[in-house]
Amino acid sequence: MYEWSEEHQAIIAVMRRFVDEEIRPHLDAIEHEGVPPYEILRKMYSVFGLKEMAQENFARALARKVSGEEPAARRGGSDPAAQIISTLELCRVSPGMVTSLGVSTGLAAGTINKLGTPAQMERWGKDLMTLDKVGAWAITEPDSGSDALGGMRTSARRDGEEYIINGSKTWITNGPFADTIVLYAKLDDGSGEEQRNRKVLTFVLDAGMPGLEQSKPMRKMGQKASPTGTLFMTDLRVGKDRLLGETEDPQGGGRASAKDNFVSERAGMAAMALGVISECLELSIDYAKGRKLWEKPISEYQLIQQKLAYMEVARVNVQNMLFNYIERSQNGASMSMAEASAIKLYSARAACEVADEAIQIFGGNGYVSEYRVEQLSRDARVFRIYAGTDEMQIVAIARDLLKG
Ligand SMILES: Cc1cc2nc3c(=O)[nH]c(=O)nc-3n(C[C@H](O)[C@H](O)[C@H](O)COP(=O)(O)OP(=O)(O)OC[C@H]3O[C@@H](n4cnc5c(N)ncnc54)[C@H](O)[C@@H]3O)c2cc1C
Repeated sequence: MYEWSEEHQAIIAVMRRFVDEEIRPHLDAIEHEGVPPYEILRKMYSVFGLKEMAQENFARALARKVSGEEPAARRGGSDPAAQIISTLELCRVSPGMVTSLGVSTGLAAGTINKLGTPAQMERWGKDLMTLDKVGAWAITEPDSGSDALGGMRTSARRDGEEYIINGSKTWITNGPFADTIVLYAKLDDGSGEEQRNRKVLTFVLDAGMPGLEQSKPMRKMGQKASPTGTLFMTDLRVGKDRLLGETEDPQGGGRASAKDNFVSERAGMAAMALGVISECLELSIDYAKGRKLWEKPISEYQLIQQKLAYMEVARVNVQNMLFNYIERSQNGASMSMAEASAIKLYSARAACEVADEAIQIFGGNGYVSEYRVEQLSRDARVFRIYAGTDEMQIVAIARDLLKG
């Protein structure tokens, strides 16, 4: 059975101290005053040696790419727990920061390193992994959210050795500030192939390219620490050097690459949910013990105890799912889309329910930002929407159950 090791416990303790000393004092600026999260995240990277770790990981990934070896995650043996612990601990205070970080170092850098040539990895992947640059990963469009691949309208038309890209992407995390953008587009090769079935190509764009416009951050319900925006591509001209793998037929195809990301993103959601659940539970226990009504703490009322008990059940379940995911990753065992979807569906709902019940325990205090559970509740709400909505997770699980 997997458990946090002594080394992991030490990382948790140090991470908590960093969060208390370096993040909590700036939380208002990030959550309410529109200050982007990147400088604090960079500080976290340098304090914890994550930058050096990222450089070493990059060097290993590059060496494997050059030698044609399989990625480490598939071979097992690596410990994803350190990364997961930082996600979990950061999520206790600011899930939005985790969203920004995960998209930049996970989705954007991960896609470049997986599909790109060694030269492309060096050109873009390394700086994203170290957080020297900020990345975005753009697949969603105004008219093709859940139907992201089939309904995609952004097109890349061949023009000699180049492509001309037109279209727009929306809800793009880090979109307003990204230096590097991984962009999915449908190939328009003039053959008249039906739009839904066209090849999906993956390009890398740099901020400031002629024909690329990055919107201002959108106003959102939560996740205010994570800037989200729209991208507009108008006759944006790119050379083949920006097409990942420099081929229209990467191994498995562009669709498979996007789907690979869906699995890690969905399973990884358990860590984010666990952060929110653990924090809400701890805050609720403290509050319930301290709040006295009818001359006794509300923690002595059974209706409050029931809420705390259900929160604990959710915490245990999500933690078990997360440990299962870590253990399997270490053993090099892959997870099916249906399993990852089940984890995501349960964890996202559990985080939302727990955060909502925390507000209830706090009463009126739960409704004001000072007590923080309202922020966690607003931030957790998007867990049920991004990385595939609840309904899309259910579709993936049911499809797997009923196949064959
Ligand atoms: C804060 C935030 C950050 C994001 N970051 C990124 C990012 O970095 N990159 C990126 O590419 N995207 C990103 N997204 C987009 C996100 O992945 C989409 O919002 C999500 O996939 C849902 O798409 P949609 O919003 O268009 O909803 P829609 O697809 O329009 O869905 C509307 C409703 O219909 C339901 N529905 C759809 N199809 C079916 C069906 N077949 N059966 C039953 N119900 C169905 C949905 O579940 C939902 O309830 C982000 C979104 C948010 C809110």
